[in-house]
Amino acid sequence: MVNSSYESYEYVQNLLGTTVSLILCEPNENVAHKIFELIKVLESKLTVNRPVSEVMSVNLAAGQQPVKVSHSIFSLIAQAKDVSLMPGSCFNVAIGPLVKLWKIGFNGRFPPSQQQIDEKRLLIDPQDIELNVEDQTVFLKKKGMEIDMGAIAKGYIADIVKAILLQNGINQAIINLGGNVVALNQSPANAEGFWHIGLRKPFSNNDELVGFLKVINKSVVTSGIYERYFVHKDTLYHHILDSSTGYPLNNELESITIISDTSLEGDLFSTLLYGLGYERANEYLQKHRNLSAIFLLKNKTIKLANPHNFAFELTNHQYVMR
Ligand code: ADP
Ligand code: MG
Repeated sequence: MVNSSYESYEYVQNLLGTTVSLILCEPNENVAHKIFELIKVLESKLTVNRPVSEVMSVNLAAGQQPVKVSHSIFSLIAQAKDVSLMPGSCFNVAIGPLVKLWKIGFNGRFPPSQQQIDEKRLLIDPQDIELNVEDQTVFLKKKGMEIDMGAIAKGYIADIVKAILLQNGINQAIINLGGNVVALNQSPANAEGFWHIGLRKPFSNNDELVGFLKVINKSVVTSGIYERYFVHKDTLYHHILDSSTGYPLNNELESITIISDTSLEGDLFSTLLYGLGYERANEYLQKHRNLSAIFLLKNKTIKLANPHNFAFELTNHQYVMR
């Protein structure tokens, strides 16, 4: 994924349901080990794919009682709730019951019945997440409600990993949490200091690229319809769901890549802006110039928004930039 013509040291582990890699400019097994252990701890707090975690303790008490969580998880849930309540937001941190019903990426093979979808849609209102700042508790008002951090966990964790690297005096690195990339400061590989980050071609199974980004000290996060999906009767069902229909969001985008300062906002906005589709997402970005985006459309056109924060080089001529 990362182009490196300089001396680099890569450390890899399978975590977060994906491949996590750290690329450092000097060998440092110790720090890499420390970071992998930390990721395991954070994953065990945030996951909803295991019976026990901080978030699962909130979910299992839905409709019954508030649950006290750690300060960091509380503030992450609070942020996610705020973004879920933004007018027109397609991001919904309370989407859990629908995610579990569809099981996309987890052995789901065909769409659930309309009745099942309608039942779950009654349990996904982010207003029904009650937060008590004083007690640091989270209460899901209806039995069967579930918070799902799948869209933001990797971004949240990537920012923490960045902070740990800096604390340990490591100022140049690439953190890659299965496609959530953080490029730390400048690359030593070229005079301009650009890190080169490959943009994967959707649905290619051999790491084919569309092109690559050049960034300095940025997070690069992609959300798309090709990461986790199934095909049933010629229709593709992917893993970003529309709260208003209960079905996967349907628009002209194959993927959106967000270039931002923090990976948490990259992850939040990759999901949210994917859902808005190109026109409305681009409108939003014109008013938020600190966020940049690369849109890959199903018709193989590429559009950029706010390209002052990065450069993009197209290498795959099946695509055109417009
Ligand atoms: P990836 O997991 O490939 O990085 P995303 O960041 O786009 O992809 O997150 C997708 C995940 O977010 C889904 O697997 C699911 O857990 C959760 N999710 C699905 N739909 C929504 C939604 N509308 N709002 C918030 N989270 C969602
Ligand atoms: Mg996301």
